[in-house]
Amino acid sequence: MALRMFNTLGREIKEIVPLEKGRIKMYVCGPTVYRYAHIGNLRTYLMEDILRRVLEMDGYEVTYVMNITDVGHLSDDADEGEDKMLKGAREQGLSVREIAEFYAKIFFEDLEALNIIKPTITCKATEHIQDMIDLIKRIEENGYTYFSGGNLYFDISKFPDYGKLALLDLSELKAGSRIAIDENKKNPHDFVLWFTRSKFEHQTMLWDSPWGKGYPGWHIECSAMSMKYLGEQFDIHCGGIDLIPVHHTNEIAQSEAATGKKWVKYWIHGEFLNTPKGKMSKSEGNFHTLKDLMEKGYEPLDYRYFCLLGHYRSQLQFSLESLDSARNARKNLCLRIALLKQEEGNNSGTGDVEEVDYYRLFKSHAYDDLNMPQCLSDLWNLVKDTTLSSSLKLKVIGKMDTVLGLNLEKAEIDTDIDDEIKASIERREQARKNRDFTLADSIRDELKQLGIILEDTPDGVRWRKI
Ligand code: AMP
Ligand code: ZN
Repeated sequence: MALRMFNTLGREIKEIVPLEKGRIKMYVCGPTVYRYAHIGNLRTYLMEDILRRVLEMDGYEVTYVMNITDVGHLSDDADEGEDKMLKGAREQGLSVREIAEFYAKIFFEDLEALNIIKPTITCKATEHIQDMIDLIKRIEENGYTYFSGGNLYFDISKFPDYGKLALLDLSELKAGSRIAIDENKKNPHDFVLWFTRSKFEHQTMLWDSPWGKGYPGWHIECSAMSMKYLGEQFDIHCGGIDLIPVHHTNEIAQSEAATGKKWVKYWIHGEFLNTPKGKMSKSEGNFHTLKDLMEKGYEPLDYRYFCLLGHYRSQLQFSLESLDSARNARKNLCLRIALLKQEEGNNSGTGDVEEVDYYRLFKSHAYDDLNMPQCLSDLWNLVKDTTLSSSLKLKVIGKMDTVLGLNLEKAEIDTDIDDEIKASIERREQARKNRDFTLADSIRDELKQLGIILEDTPDGVRWRKI
C-alpha cells in the first residue's frame, strides 16, 4: 500500500515516490525563537511528526531536518518591520543569544512532552551564515539579483515560475495592495536576500559579506540549510499554510535560481488551529501555550489526542471544552487498554497483527493523506471488539501507536488515590457483603462526586477516575 499525500504544488493527492529508494528526506520550517510557541504552532509540528511516523511505518528511513530561526525574520513578511529576535530581546531585556537559547530549550521541551520524535538534524540560522552567503553568490552569478538602497534583492521577473506554489496571479498584484511599498524594489514581490541597510538602531547581529556588513533575509536560511543537509533536491518540505504565499514561494524561487533544477517534490502544509476569534496567533492575543494548558491540569498528550481528531488540512477549532472532551476520551481509552493488559494473562490468544482488519483499515486511512480521525476510530473499534484476544489487541494497539504517539503501551490504571478514598471503597465492599445496599449505593454516589467511578465485576470492584 502506498502513501498518498496532498501536494500543495499542483493541488493534487498523489502517491509519494521518493527520489532515492527506501529513503525520504524532509525539511520542516522550525520556530522563530523569540517567544513561547503557542499550541497553534504546535499543531503544525504535530502534523509533521505524524507524517514522519507514517513514512516510517511505510518502511522508509527518514532524514528529518528542522531549522531554528534566530536571526532575520522580520515582523512583516514583506521585508518590512523589525527583526523579531531583536525586538524580543529588547522587550525582554535580554541579549539575542539569551532569548534564542531560552525559547529554543522550551520549544524542545514542548516537543518532547507532546511525544514528537526529535529531528534527525536541527540547525540554527546564525550557525549557517556562510552557507547562506555562498548560496546568495550562486543566485547572483546566475543573474537573479540587483542591489538597491543598500540591500541585495531577488528579482522575481527573472524567474518565470514565481508564485507557482501559491497560484499567485502576478498581474493582479499591485504595490500597495497586500504588500507594503518598498521604493527600492522593482516589483512588490521582490525580496531581500541580504540586508546591509538596517532601518533600526541596535542591529547587533551583523556579518561581513560580499555586499557589505549586514544580515540575511529570512527566506534564505531554509534554502541554504535544507540543501546543506539534504542535497540540492529532496522529497518533502512542510510548514503551516501561512508560509505558502511568501516564505515558501520565495524559498523555491531562490533555490531553483541557484541550482537551475527543480528543488522539492512534495509540499505539505497544515491548516490553522483557530479560536472563536479566528486563527490562533500571538499578535491577536488569543493563544495558549502548552505550559498554560498544563497549569490548567491538562496533560500534553490530551492536546496531541485533540489534534488527532481533526484532519491536518482542515481548520481545527480550539476551546477548553473541546479539549476536555479529548481528555476524557483519551483517559477512557487508556483505561480500557489498561484493563486489556490486566486480562492479557488469562487471555493469550495468538494471531498475526498484519491480518487484523482493524490494522489494515488503520494503515489504509493513514496512507490516505494522513486521515488521523479515521485512524482513531479504527483504534476505538479494535478496543471495543469482542472477538479478538486481549493479547492480539494489545499487539495491534502497539503498532497503531507508533503512528499516533499516545504512549498507549504505558496506559495504566491510576492507582494514585488517597487513603480516605481507599477506605470508602472498602467500606462499600463491606456494606455489600452485609447486603446493606442502601449504604453501599450512598458511598458509591459520594465517591462519584469525588470523581471516582466504581464498577462491579465478577473479579470484584474496580474503580477509575472520571
Ligand atoms: P513561527 O514560529 O511563527 O515561524 O511559526 C511556526 C509554525 O507554526 C509555522 O509552520 C506556521 O505556519 C505555524 N503556525 C502559525 N500559527 C498557526 C496556527 N494558528 N495554527 C497552526 N499552525 C500555525
Ligand atoms: Zn522555512
